Amino acid sequence: MKHILTFAILGAALLTGAAEYRDIEARVIPVPQKIEVVSGATFPLKEDVVFKVVTPLEAESVAATVIGDVRLYWHFTPKVICEKGGEKIPDEGYQLDTTTPEFVITASSLSGVRNALRSMRQLAEPERGVVRSTGFVIPQVRMDDFPNLKLRGFHYCDKKELWRIERAIRLAAYFKFNLFVLQLPMELKKHPEYVSENALTQEEVRRFVKLGKSLGLVMVPQIQILGHQGEIVRGGQILLDQDPAWAPLFEPSGSSWCISNPAAVKYIEEVASEYLDVFENPPYIHAGCDEAYNAGSCSLCRQGGEYWEKVAAHLTHFHDFFAARNCRMMIWHDMLVEKNDPAWKGSTANGDKDAAKLRAALPHDIIICYWEYGMPQPGGVTGFPIFDVLRKEGFPVVNSGWRYDTTEALGEKAYKGGGAGILQTTWGELNNSHRYHTIYAQGSTSGWNSLAHCPPVMDGPIYTVDLLNRYVRDVNCDMGIKDPAKTGTK
Ligand SMILES: [Zn+2]
Repeated sequence: MKHILTFAILGAALLTGAAEYRDIEARVIPVPQKIEVVSGATFPLKEDVVFKVVTPLEAESVAATVIGDVRLYWHFTPKVICEKGGEKIPDEGYQLDTTTPEFVITASSLSGVRNALRSMRQLAEPERGVVRSTGFVIPQVRMDDFPNLKLRGFHYCDKKELWRIERAIRLAAYFKFNLFVLQLPMELKKHPEYVSENALTQEEVRRFVKLGKSLGLVMVPQIQILGHQGEIVRGGQILLDQDPAWAPLFEPSGSSWCISNPAAVKYIEEVASEYLDVFENPPYIHAGCDEAYNAGSCSLCRQGGEYWEKVAAHLTHFHDFFAARNCRMMIWHDMLVEKNDPAWKGSTANGDKDAAKLRAALPHDIIICYWEYGMPQPGGVTGFPIFDVLRKEGFPVVNSGWRYDTTEALGEKAYKGGGAGILQTTWGELNNSHRYHTIYAQGSTSGWNSLAHCPPVMDGPIYTVDLLNRYVRDVNCDMGIKDPAKTGTK
């Protein structure tokens, strides 16, 4: 009885301790797998501290990376000691111990080391009790953290201001995403007529690709090989607005490519090639294929065989075209599932009655990005049945949320159902701290710690949205942004 009582008292003390430091734990986003705040006391982050990195990696490059990140985050040059070990830590994962003034990071990958430093940056506080900060202190924590999903993508389709794009790339890396899809028009040397004059230059895109890679992101272009030839961010159908003589490349509405026209296929190949060049031969390309309305509506597409067979041949052609450059094709899912199938009533589906035949005819290593931006209304089928169908048929599936309420549930579904990952979308809505909460905090958590819940308000007074504002300021600082019009979170 005495022992039981002792345990009860100890348990209560531990629980009290956990609650006491909940605000410190909550600083780390995405929500970590395991964090223990050992004490409310801190150690300074300053010139003479030692970072011990336990890793099987080559010491010189590890030390250079740690020194580079520490200089950026806390503005001093640390001492770095490397020791062999850490082989069993999952890729991109890390263990962190700041309970002694010699901080210990254990990781098997360079991305794991960097993720530990990102968590430390979020945990650190500016120096206390002075007028102006000259340094930072770090709470005493032990962490054991790793991602649940392999692909954790961030899809940028938003304002074209260069500083916004750069900040989005830096924030994606800060929140431990590992892939960045850029869907914005880029100038083309071979086909300058395809984009508007305010498209990104190739030089600008090359700079973003280099930046993303330097932060550990896989940089992926998105193009459109089927529909969406009148882009919302682009404004209008650029080619046809300028010269209607290009009309044979498209279906009569102008919104989808005419895939039966070999000249259109060649044109798309030439566009795609430039993107692959500028993105330095990326391992993935997103080929779009969503909302391809009015596809197959011209007289040429109606001739000789079923339209679904032409779509299958078209997608297979581009799958092979990219594979020849060691590049894997991703596409959105909605044209691949029949719109009115009661099996997924209330879910997003834009395909016709032949959609199942189309799926069966496709190469099954195409990564299907399944997007669902709202839960089904009453009467709809819950539980994301489209995901299950695609997985059962053998496709790798990446789940995509946006700004509504599906992000966390899609991450959980991907994790439990053997999905390949998540791809958080933005669609012109990356514009304030509440959106940041859904898009960055919940989005990153859905891929990193897929069963965790990341509410905007935790335990009453802990308001995640304010933390996100701070992390945006961290990145503003990295970029040297001081313009009041840019420093806010709008
Ligand atoms: Zn056609």
